[in-house]
Amino acid sequence: MTDVDMDELMENLAQCRRCGICRNAVYEDRGFNGVCPVWKNSSGFETSFMRGRLQVAIALLEGRLEKTAENAESLYTCTLCGNCTAICAAEFDPTRCLENVREILNEIPNESRDEIAKKIQIYNNPYSENNSSRRSWAVDIGFDIPSTGEVLYFTGCTAGLKLPETAKSTAHVLRAAGVDFAVLEDEPCCGSVMIRTGRSDSARENAKRVLEKIRNSGAETVIVSCAGCLKTLREDYNERFGLDMPKVLHVIEYLLPMIQNKKLKLKPFEKPVKISWHDPCHMGRALGIYEEPREIIRAIPNVELVEMDTNRAATMCCGAGGGLRSYDGEIAKKIASDRIKSAQEIGADILATACPFCEHNLKDGAERIESKIKIVDILDLLSQQLE
Ligand code: SF4
Ligand code: SF4
Repeated sequence: MTDVDMDELMENLAQCRRCGICRNAVYEDRGFNGVCPVWKNSSGFETSFMRGRLQVAIALLEGRLEKTAENAESLYTCTLCGNCTAICAAEFDPTRCLENVREILNEIPNESRDEIAKKIQIYNNPYSENNSSRRSWAVDIGFDIPSTGEVLYFTGCTAGLKLPETAKSTAHVLRAAGVDFAVLEDEPCCGSVMIRTGRSDSARENAKRVLEKIRNSGAETVIVSCAGCLKTLREDYNERFGLDMPKVLHVIEYLLPMIQNKKLKLKPFEKPVKISWHDPCHMGRALGIYEEPREIIRAIPNVELVEMDTNRAATMCCGAGGGLRSYDGEIAKKIASDRIKSAQEIGADILATACPFCEHNLKDGAERIESKIKIVDILDLLSQQLE
């Protein structure tokens, strides 16, 4: 079942002027230095950037192109980063259109998409891990974390199962700020990747279960340390599924006022350090959260915030989003290497971000080009610099 209005979608797709700006335009005044990270790191064919993807989508929807996995490939080699939407002058959102096309055409075979959805349904996470180990990071943290309370820390699959240090750091920083918080006993996946890859049918059912668990915890505010969870819980649950969520904030939005009023004190780095900020697409372009992380970084003594050639609304994606890391991991890692090179070019010692999925892919991208740059989650940075 889909809520996507087919007529509206076709009207929107027809708005594309085929100008091609979404391929590799450079607009210095707006901070754009290239647009599509996939085009840059793949064949360079028409179907490797948004203009071509949309023409393929229209042909598939109109039945002029047979609905085969091969013909639909270009619909999935896209991170849904939104850079093309940010630069497109036509009156539509090409990235959202592509997301909707994936949803409408989800009968076209796609092993990677269906495998992810199946794993989430079976394991409650996309990594096929035993979900009961998701809270293991909290065992030796040194204090008890309840499973119910007014403030709920929703850890997300990647921090919970792959990068537990981020979950630990978040817990330490919240405790240092005097926040009483809870963590669910058997936290499920938020379903972000199902929405992005076109499995909204499964995502809707999943979202209802997630909301029930959140409500049962008594949460009035949900805080997350993952940009993907943030967009999904804050925006998609309501906008796509009509669910009434409590307030959802990224931890850094929640903590910024406490840093500003010195409730949370940060110690200086021993030596001067240059830190650059990678804007996660789901947090920056999608929700407009650009300045909060920068203010936090500037608040750490002995730190100089340095900006990459593309940042904020023009930022280049880390390469992992939209299911691309599962669909074509090589392109995803090449894109991440580009981001690492951008950070190196401006002399950054540390590249910080606020999404474990970005962090994971950026680390792979750094390894690919043997870069020594340090990639950290901002919560790890804050935990390390707690006074
Ligand atoms: S999606 Fe927008 S920028 Fe790209 S070709 Fe169409 S109108 Fe131009
Ligand atoms: S959303 Fe990003 S990756 Fe996808 S076509 Fe647009 S610029 Fe390229």
